[in-house]
Parts: sequence; structure tokens; C-alpha cells
Amino acid sequence: MSGYSPDFKDVPKTIAARFKPVGKGPFHDVPDAQWYDWKWQLQHRITDIAELGRYINLSPEEIAGHEAGRDVFKIGITPYYVALMDRDDPLCPVRMQATPHPQEMISHPSDMEDPLAEDRDMPVKGLTHRYPDRVLFYMTQDCAMFCRHCTRKRKVANPHTAADDAQVQGCIDYIRRTPSVRDVIVSGGDALAVSDDRLEKILAQIRDIPHVEIIRIATRTPCTMPMRITDELVAMLKKYHPIFLNTHFNHPKEATAEAFAALRKIAGAGIPIGNQMVLLKGINDDAETVMKLNHAMLMMQVKPYYIYQCDPTFGNYHFRTPVSKGIEIIKSLRGFTSGLAVPYYVIDAPGGGGKVPILPEYVKSWENGVIVVRNFRGDEYTYIEPNQD
Ligand SMILES: *Cc1c(COP(=O)(O)O)cnc(C)c1O
Ligand code: SF4
Repeated sequence: MSGYSPDFKDVPKTIAARFKPVGKGPFHDVPDAQWYDWKWQLQHRITDIAELGRYINLSPEEIAGHEAGRDVFKIGITPYYVALMDRDDPLCPVRMQATPHPQEMISHPSDMEDPLAEDRDMPVKGLTHRYPDRVLFYMTQDCAMFCRHCTRKRKVANPHTAADDAQVQGCIDYIRRTPSVRDVIVSGGDALAVSDDRLEKILAQIRDIPHVEIIRIATRTPCTMPMRITDELVAMLKKYHPIFLNTHFNHPKEATAEAFAALRKIAGAGIPIGNQMVLLKGINDDAETVMKLNHAMLMMQVKPYYIYQCDPTFGNYHFRTPVSKGIEIIKSLRGFTSGLAVPYYVIDAPGGGGKVPILPEYVKSWENGVIVVRNFRGDEYTYIEPNQD
């Protein structure tokens, strides 16, 4: 049995009671030793629509979506994430992130293949260096689950683009000879789609570079395959501190007892966790859902870090919301709930401009040292700046 179990031994009862286990759903025959083993979950990913149809009642759109797009963006869903789905409702927010839809194959003029120009800012294959002091290092193109809204659809789920040893070595050499890099984001795909051994070989080499200060792990596994977070994994990660971890939860339904067990293991190892939500039409594009999600994240010791405006990747059009929606969500969080529950809402500027924060307008006027601000309730207040003569 691997070192993961969804137990809540030392979690206060009042908090534990808020998180319901998903259990095995339609996979009730699978023994615990397999269900809680991430390798079993990965090997038993559902990649075929007929197979998926054995566990949920597929809608005609889901079937048509698969027919239309099977050669473009594959299905890949862990049994755990399937168990979290509503069996009958195709509009289930979990299901919509994982099952295909014919809209994915309709192109729109705003679509781009590589909206963030990640390939342009690649000094070596497999690494994007856009900001002065940090790099994004793609160590695999695999993920536990292939999200339908993925920005990197052009690559993810394509086995021919996996990073080989030579490519990984090229990235590490680049970091070594570039002293301005103090923050390395180990990403993919999903940084935890690889084995502990492979990950450790890479982390050990990065940690050996004197100018590297922090390492970040980018992974959606706490949400889509929480069994990945084993005692062995966190014991290994701890050796390479300071380590941070960013994950990706989009809906309160994903805040399960199983996810909680994974996240508290990470937090218990002294690894701060951030959440990067993507704003998705019909899934989380209302303030109440986001507030509920962010409160659940905080109870699971995760700080909501970013809300991303959905990138203009081909196949994402039906998930995109107007930007006013994101502003409205931030407006209804700020002041009304803990500042800790208020992430930055960002547009990752198409063409490779980087992340730009979008804020509601809190400054009403600013003239001759007199600044008039609006608070969260819309009331106006004046602040007089000090005289600078
Ligand atoms: C998002 C991103 C980072 C990290 O940005 P932070 O704001 O520091 O979290 C770094 N490089 C690239 C290319 C990115 O897209
Ligand atoms: S886990 Fe991340 S990289 Fe992988 S498919 Fe989902 S959004 Fe894309």
C-alpha cells in the first residue's frame, strides 16, 4: 500500500465534518490497495468514450465532442475524478472540465495556438524565460487528467512531445549559466505526473545551483488524483526546501476529504500552497461559487493565488467569460471576506506580455494631493497626501 490514506486523524472534528469523501462511486469493486495507489489511478485512466459511458450517462454532445475531436485533444480522466462526477448531469462542473464537447472544434478569430507565446520565449527547448528572475520548466507533457480548458492543449496529452533526458539536461544547464534565475517553476503538463525518482533527480540538480533560491512545483494532482501525494513524496520534497506548490482547483465540489488529506500532507511538510483557478463559463463564473471555493481552500491550508481569465486557446471559446465577470467576482470578495480569500485576477496577456492584474476601480479621483477612494460598499472617502515640498 502506498503512503496515502484519506484519514483525518488529527483534524479538528468541526473542520473535518465539512469535507465529504468521494469514495469509489462506480468503481466500488476496486480494492483499497489499488484505489489509493496513484500508479493504479494513472494506469486506469479513462481514455475511451465507450468506457466512460459505463460509469456516467453520456450526453449526445459528449459523444459528438469525442467523435469530432479525438485526434486533436484526447480524453484522459482518473477513476477518482470520474467518481466525483454527477452521473446524470452533463452540466456538472466536474464533468464539464473533463469530458469533450463539439464546441471545442469550432474556431474563432481570437483563437491562438500558443496564446502566451511560451515557445517564442524559449531560450532552450522545454523552458520559458519571460520574467527577469524566474523560469517555467516543462518536465513532462503528461497530466493525471486532461482538462478541456487547458492553455497548453497544443502539447499536453501528446506523447510525442514528452521531455527526454537531453532536453531536461539542456534546461538545467541553462539555469546554471543564467545567474538572474532565482525562482524555478517545475511544471508541465503536471510536475507530479512523473515518478518520485525522476522528479528527485531534477530537483537535486536545481537545488545544487547556488543562485536558485526557491523552487515551485506546479501540479493539479491534489485535485484530480490526490493519491499522488504520498508520505514518500513529501519526505523527498522536504529535502529541497524552500519549496512552494501551486495547484488548480476550480469548483467547491473538488474540495473533498481525499483532496484535503493530500493538501494537509503537503502543508505539514512546510510547503506553502497556492491555488490557481481558471475562470470558466458555466463552472465557476459567479461570486458565490468562487467564495465557497476559496473558503474551502483556506480550510485546506491553501491560499487562493490567482484567478486566470481563460486564455484564447483554440477550443476554449465556450469556456471564456467577459472580463467584467472577473472584476465583478473580485469586487464581491474584497472587503466582504478575509483578504486571504481574495486572489489576484489576471489576464495572461496574449502574445507573451505576462500576467497583468485587473482590479475593480477603487480610486475615484486623484488631484493635487487629494485622493478620493471608494470602499467595498461603494462609499467614498478622502485621503490627503503629505506635502512633498
Ligand atoms: C506565470 C508564469 C510565471 C510565474 O509568475 P508569478 O507571477 O511569479 O507566479 C513565470 N513564468 C511564466 C512564463 C509564467 O507564465
Ligand atoms: S493539469 Fe494543467 S497542464 Fe494538465 S491538462 Fe489540466 S490545465 Fe493543462
